[in-house]
Amino acid sequence: MSKGQLIVYSGPSGVGKGTLMYPYLQEHPEAVLSISMTTRQPRPGETDGVEYYFVSHEEFEKQIIQDGLLEYARYSGNYYGTPRKMVEERIQQGQDVVLEIEVQGAMKIKQSYPDAVFIFVLPPSFSVLEARLRGRGTESEEVIAARLAAAKRELGTAALYDYIIVNDDLEQARKRLEAVIAAAKCQTKYMKDFIDEVTK
Ligand code: ADP
Ligand code: 5GP
Repeated sequence: MSKGQLIVYSGPSGVGKGTLMYPYLQEHPEAVLSISMTTRQPRPGETDGVEYYFVSHEEFEKQIIQDGLLEYARYSGNYYGTPRKMVEERIQQGQDVVLEIEVQGAMKIKQSYPDAVFIFVLPPSFSVLEARLRGRGTESEEVIAARLAAAKRELGTAALYDYIIVNDDLEQARKRLEAVIAAAKCQTKYMKDFIDEVTK
């Protein structure tokens, strides 16, 4: 059985990562989203074990020491990390796993999993990003200001990724995401096992 594809998916807060990825996952049962661990507080409507595993600083640091995380980073004063076990098991079982993570974590994955595909979502402009972040209405002004400052830095890292999706028109951007993942999965380097299988 072929291994699954690891998909690293980044972009500034409020750019529309969740809005774009949700329908993809609905239509592609072979792909799953990794649930990260974080020390940030749940937002209204978020449930432990669904959007994130919400844990204390002590618990998070225990996971770091026990090598339970594939990568982790500090972002806006909190820890965020990818639990290792689920990702490695699913990839082995042939499922594609999406890591929706920020850039420091993405670059760590680039070192440990060079075969992962790296996708970055850009807004059509900075002012559109600001409007989306405010429009979502889930953060305080202070948090929004911090996220926008972080976004300014993050946008410059887009060039480190393999593919860029500009999230302008939602339907067009969804189609591009679909096409990019499909194309990434057809790369010869991921098909080696399959080539061996059909030629033996
Ligand atoms: P992220 O997951 O990147 O933080 P969200 O998916 O929560 O961002 O999107 C932020 C806000 O922008 C949401 O209110 C969402 O409905 C809106 N949004 C996302 N994509 C578009 C788009 N292409 N056009 C208009 N609004 C969008
Ligand atoms: P939010 O607080 O808006 O849910 O997430 C803040 C940032 O942390 C986003 O850029 C999100 O993609 C990133 N993030 C979420 N989970 C992880 C993770 O496991 N590792 C890393 N490095 N970043 C993460």
